Amino acid sequence: MIGAPLPLVALPSDPQSGPLDYLSASRLKCWQECRLKFFFRYVERLPSSASPALFVGKAIHHVLQQWNLARWRGQPADADTLKPVFDSYWENKPEEEDIAWENSESDQREKAWGMLEHYFAHTPIPLQEKPEAVEVIVERDLDAHGLPPLRGVIDLVRAGGCIVDFKTSARSPDEGMAALLHETQLSTYALLYREATGKEESGFELQFLIKTKQPKLVVTSLLPVSPDQVRRLLRLMESYVAGVEAEDYIPSPGLHCSYCDYQSECRAWH
Ligand code: SF4
Repeated sequence: MIGAPLPLVALPSDPQSGPLDYLSASRLKCWQECRLKFFFRYVERLPSSASPALFVGKAIHHVLQQWNLARWRGQPADADTLKPVFDSYWENKPEEEDIAWENSESDQREKAWGMLEHYFAHTPIPLQEKPEAVEVIVERDLDAHGLPPLRGVIDLVRAGGCIVDFKTSARSPDEGMAALLHETQLSTYALLYREATGKEESGFELQFLIKTKQPKLVVTSLLPVSPDQVRRLLRLMESYVAGVEAEDYIPSPGLHCSYCDYQSECRAWH
């Protein structure tokens, strides 16, 4: 949904596409984290487990999407209006979401709604501010760079061109590290936004909904992506394409292994 006519390309999601059919922030991030994990997820397409934290993140993202759409349409967008949206999403989760709740579902549900209530009470976005864009799917042709196209979905663009990304987290982020940790994702958004609008983003907001006992909201503002960051992203994409073509799926063990879905496949890999 876009507040002004922009030359956007709507693309159906295609989970069965090959790793060189298109590039995306999640593919590039996974590639940076561990090439073997990337292989299991995007080449072998092994299923990943549905954790409670992942489902909570999806439920919150869904409600925030409806909140943004309601503001875009000029409809009521308060906690009372959105509670049935949250309840419906939670109660109608697909059967394939076989989540290992371990008796924590009602607690997780209460916490998730608590995070949303806190967000609606403390959001930095005025209710009357009409978004520039909500949940837009964009593709950028990178043929001139010898690369596959780049695809992505931008959650929200605030009036004035500030790109917003919502994140849920168990703890407060290190604000000093945010620009570095999220650089790949934000640089892809910048390339897509510039393709869609012909102008540069005014900046970024990472809005973290924190799942502490007392929910918190941490908003980190970041400057527009620099030319050097764009060059870094292009070099990363070139490395990705060369690595996939060479089938270079060497593992990168580290702290991230603790939440990897493919630990047993990894141990068996040779
Ligand atoms: S367990 Fe670690 S090294 Fe193995 S695939 Fe997963 S992230 Fe990579």
